[in-house]
Amino acid sequence: MRIIRAAKVLTGRSGEVIEDGEVLIDGPAIVSVGPRGSAGAAGEAAEVLELPGHTVLPGLVDAHVHLGFDATVDPLTGRSAESERHLLLRMAENARKLVSAGVTTARDLGGRAFLDLELRDAIEEGLAVGPHLVVATRPITVTGGHCWYMGGEADDEPAIRRVARENLRAGADCLKVMVSGGLMTPGAPPSWVPQYGTEQLRVVVEEAATRGKGVAAHAHAHAAVRSSIEAGVTTIEHCSFFTPEGHQYDAELGDKVAASGTYVCPTVHGSVDRIRKVHGDRMLEQWLNGIAAMRAAGVRLITGTDAGFAVGGIANPTDAFVAGLEVFAQIGFGNAEIIEMATVRAADACGVGGVTGTLEAGKRADLIAVAGDPLADLAHLRDLALVLVSGRSVTQAGVDTVTSSVG
Ligand SMILES: [Zn+2]
Repeated sequence: MRIIRAAKVLTGRSGEVIEDGEVLIDGPAIVSVGPRGSAGAAGEAAEVLELPGHTVLPGLVDAHVHLGFDATVDPLTGRSAESERHLLLRMAENARKLVSAGVTTARDLGGRAFLDLELRDAIEEGLAVGPHLVVATRPITVTGGHCWYMGGEADDEPAIRRVARENLRAGADCLKVMVSGGLMTPGAPPSWVPQYGTEQLRVVVEEAATRGKGVAAHAHAHAAVRSSIEAGVTTIEHCSFFTPEGHQYDAELGDKVAASGTYVCPTVHGSVDRIRKVHGDRMLEQWLNGIAAMRAAGVRLITGTDAGFAVGGIANPTDAFVAGLEVFAQIGFGNAEIIEMATVRAADACGVGGVTGTLEAGKRADLIAVAGDPLADLAHLRDLALVLVSGRSVTQAGVDTVTSSVG
């Protein structure tokens, strides 16, 4: 047994903050959380880690990554210069960087060759260092559609059902569906064009539900957002209200998203740099205003980076999670709210809220300790003193590697 004592413990339960708190851990699980001394005799017998001036909080959750996005793939042919064996090693390195940023759970929303399943299981076995992974395997997309080269092409309902069932049979934890086009597949429909309608999406939701799984819907276009909520997906990715003229937030549709309770992962992170450099400040402002409007409407926003994806030549590195959180702060979100979006709420959205996302007895010991108080300044989330994934310490500050964070 180990006990961690710190100046502050954020449990993640409705913003609860315990001053001078302690967390008792036995192997992979949390035994108790409370003020100093609350663990009683068990705490006295435990190995003690004293962290004065630090804050302990639930490990961060990145609800949208692509650890195995392969930037060497030629989108016109789907061929890649990188072997699957090499790609798997690079995914492992990306996972190590992600956990080194304090991310203890990540949802991988698309890659090829089912490599995400291999990495997920290797991390659980202790063969690789990384966050717990929730994986989607091949995104379901139309023939030649957004990310078709990841292997999940399906045009009509029987084909969609088939790909969905194959992904689930292989061991997918959730399904990903490309409801609209996207930014980086030449020849595919652009972002503002829907790829699937509501009836087709219902097939995806139905298949996922047979295994108790959720559906992540990539949706930029207004029509794609609408059909995502009509079909009852779990999370909408991007939700950028994108048109040929740029981002045009639709208040009526935003209210419908809020009323549906669907989680929205706007994947801010590297998008800020990309939108500014590729499309300019006006587009950036439109897009940020849309995110602020969703918040005002009561949409359940969560954190996710799209890390691994390099769009327009601009990387979304796996080791810069906090930068994405700071974007929310810049547009008016409170620090406590952002930490909630990045922990308990994102864990719930990824379907793992029962086992992680808060510091509570019985949950996995997925936690971080940072110097200072991130409620006062999110930048303290970069000062990691400890990262535990199911009780295993994976803190690796200062480890240099020669690879970039992106493929
Ligand atoms: Zn993505």
